[in-house]
Amino acid sequence: MTDSSSTVRVRFAPSPTGYLHIGGARTALYNYLFARKQGGVFVLRIEDTDRERSTPAAMQAILDGMRYLGLDWDEGPEVGGDHGPYFQSERVEGYRALVDGLLESGAAYRCFCSRERLDELRKEQMAAKQRVHYDRRCRDLGADDVAARVERGDPFVVRFAVGEGETVVDDLIRGRVVFSNDEIEDFIVQRADGTCVYNLAVVGDDSGMEITHVIRGEDHLTNTPKQILLFRALGAPVPTYAHIALIHGPGRQKLSKRHGAVSVTEYQEQGYLPEAMLNFLVRMGWSYDDRQEIFSREELVEKFSLDGISRSPAMYDLDRLKHLGNYYMRQRSVADLTDLAGPRLVAAGLLPEEAARTRRAWLERMVALEQERVENLSQIVDRVRFYFEDPTEYEPKAAKALRKKPEVGEALVAFADVLEEKFDENGPAAMEEEARRLSEARTISMKDLCQPMRAVLTGRSFSPPLFDVIAVLGREATMRRLRAAPEIIKSLGGGAGGKSS
Ligand code: GLU
Repeated sequence: MTDSSSTVRVRFAPSPTGYLHIGGARTALYNYLFARKQGGVFVLRIEDTDRERSTPAAMQAILDGMRYLGLDWDEGPEVGGDHGPYFQSERVEGYRALVDGLLESGAAYRCFCSRERLDELRKEQMAAKQRVHYDRRCRDLGADDVAARVERGDPFVVRFAVGEGETVVDDLIRGRVVFSNDEIEDFIVQRADGTCVYNLAVVGDDSGMEITHVIRGEDHLTNTPKQILLFRALGAPVPTYAHIALIHGPGRQKLSKRHGAVSVTEYQEQGYLPEAMLNFLVRMGWSYDDRQEIFSREELVEKFSLDGISRSPAMYDLDRLKHLGNYYMRQRSVADLTDLAGPRLVAAGLLPEEAARTRRAWLERMVALEQERVENLSQIVDRVRFYFEDPTEYEPKAAKALRKKPEVGEALVAFADVLEEKFDENGPAAMEEEARRLSEARTISMKDLCQPMRAVLTGRSFSPPLFDVIAVLGREATMRRLRAAPEIIKSLGGGAGGKSS
């Protein structure tokens, strides 16, 4: 062999039957980090043998999700490589050849047992409280008998002939896991329709792609002894295994949609920054030391090792993701965030495309005001919406503030008059000063003036500092909304006849 024999080669092997699941993304990340740390090769292989359930859209979602996370693969779809094809559906000829080899060497055999017989057998074994296993009836059929049946066209499956003894998985995370071969039935490697089963395809691919380390979810651990038996029977080197404990939702349940979004695409759409997602994913099961919580991509590559992976299930903690989301929003520059939020504002129909350039400084001011408070980009869009559109709805608390003292409507109109003259030269502090003067003159507290003011301007009960908001909102919209205050208050049930709660 060339020096490739010393190169670490790992793979991520998703089945394109749905979205890129959080658990899958974590597996991909661990493989990626391990490869980068070891100077190895990261292969992406698409396990699309389930033709019914595999879709091009799911495949695209997986590739998009990986690109969003920056998990660039060295070999695989769209990038090629010299161990292809990288789609299982294009490798079926090779699997058949492997099965033929197994039959020839006697490591596998044809089984002609009918579905009825197998059902009967299962029932008997269950009734006798025995393990439900194929009883190996066809294992010792004579060669002539087999040939005659094949000649007749009798349907058959191909089964692997499991030998005596035990099969040991020396797992880098779980340690030594011993399986008694008694527990492994003579499993099917090729179905009656000629298609191969998952275990055979994976072994064919892992050996064909010269995979040295298989890092995958613990749900595959029970497949591993079968795969090891196949590697040995094929005379191929057995890769080193590392099985990662699963992710649990609160209450130790298997992670499901009940626990919040479990697809990477959803978080991508919400505009979580990739660095937040990476930190969220990596820490579900891996730690470096007791202290460090936040890692740059470079630090992860430098510090990652399989030793740091826990054997116990990781917890799915969305509060942590929110915390990380906010942390990374604060790390980015306002210019960066504006670059990222701009297209979303255009897509939301709030901003004409060219205005993303011509009104850049204005956009940056509003982004700067929200940066500290948001976790993702769609929250920015949501929270700056009022700069573009007069509110038509008022949050319950905002509506309540407007109903509280209906006469504040007139005060807000008066405030509009004060501001109108010198809006441009008035910075936020000067405007606040004017508001204070008005509140004294009208004996209305600042709070009772400003809360309704915030409500008519933004529709919300909560915003960045009000006078900063006004400065960004601009004269025209501010005047219009303040002057509409009496009307708005009336429409919300305040004022004449309205209840002041
Ligand atoms: N295609 C399998 C899955 O999506 C992965 C198989 C493997 O990693 O060996 O679960």
